[in-house]
Amino acid sequence: MNFTYAQPRTLAELLAQKDAQTHLLAGGTDLLVDTRSGKKSVARVLDIKAIPELRGIRAVKGGLQIGACETFTHLLRSPHLQKYPALRECASVMGCHEIRNRATLGGNICNASPGSESSVVLSVHEAQINIASRRGTRRVAYDDFTTGVNRTCLEPDEVVVSIFIPSAPRALGIYRRITRTAGMDLACWNGAALVFSPNTPAKREIRFAFGTVMSTTYRPRAIEAQLSRRPLTPADMDAAYEAICAEIQPRASSLRASPDEKRRAIRNFLNELLALLTPAPTRRQPTA
Ligand SMILES: Cc1cc2nc3c(=O)[nH]c(=O)nc-3n(C[C@H](O)[C@H](O)[C@H](O)COP(=O)(O)OP(=O)(O)OC[C@H]3O[C@@H](n4cnc5c(N)ncnc54)[C@H](O)[C@@H]3O)c2cc1C
Repeated sequence: MNFTYAQPRTLAELLAQKDAQTHLLAGGTDLLVDTRSGKKSVARVLDIKAIPELRGIRAVKGGLQIGACETFTHLLRSPHLQKYPALRECASVMGCHEIRNRATLGGNICNASPGSESSVVLSVHEAQINIASRRGTRRVAYDDFTTGVNRTCLEPDEVVVSIFIPSAPRALGIYRRITRTAGMDLACWNGAALVFSPNTPAKREIRFAFGTVMSTTYRPRAIEAQLSRRPLTPADMDAAYEAICAEIQPRASSLRASPDEKRRAIRNFLNELLALLTPAPTRRQPTA
């Protein structure tokens, strides 16, 4: 691997140097793997780890602001994550100890893998991505940030500065994944739910999202609306499951899990959600 390397010390320095020929190096756990394997050809690298404007995990008005270069280990250590249980859960199962020590949240969203750990959690929280370039700043909803497999809406001169996650007081947050090898593999499938007013059916707002079943995170807003603000029955979840299966397009060529396994994971996820949101008699056991 031959490339030139520079380490800007401020965001202004970084933006002055960022162009289409430049790759950003955060933790390097995707970039260096892709460069070594030949998937990416890299001529010029800007190491962004030392830039203070890309660091910090802060409670701000209405939510949490996470610097793009914060690692998953830093997320796990932050006391703020107690209020974001789905994010905490995803950070705790992401990769393995060594990967979590290097991998950043910014790198995770910019790599834009369909099963990336943070994708479904950021989607249900309706996170906003703060982006900067020499031309100014802009804020993009997470669901509009990822545009395809390994593709984002970033222009060549843009960088992700931070991720804003709106708070969800007293909401129920869950994150689930299936994986082939515990601790060293990307999720074969993942899902997250965020439920506001979980114990008051008339006020309840249900959000959920699934990874690896489309090229970007799948968030079925119309189906969420049908399940919200009313008591839930197993028949409601059956209907939701059928509607989801009619929309998703899991790849048959996926090396990690078959479409059937992903559909089964969704079925179990919905059953679990039903069990968490309804009194015991309406509960149903997971399918094997
Ligand atoms: C052994 C192993 C296990 C893994 N397990 C998992 C797993 O369980 N779950 C999972 O989701 N991923 C996993 N990964 C993939 C990877 O670790 C994550 O995607 C990680 O979050 C990438 O972050 P990074 O800081 O290392 O990114 P980098 O590799 O530094 O960068 C990734 C891409 O994003 C760009 N980029 C980085 N930061 C910015 C920014 N601020 N603005 C604009 N562009 C930027 C880079 O230029 C590059 O194109 C694994 C990887 C390995 C090698």
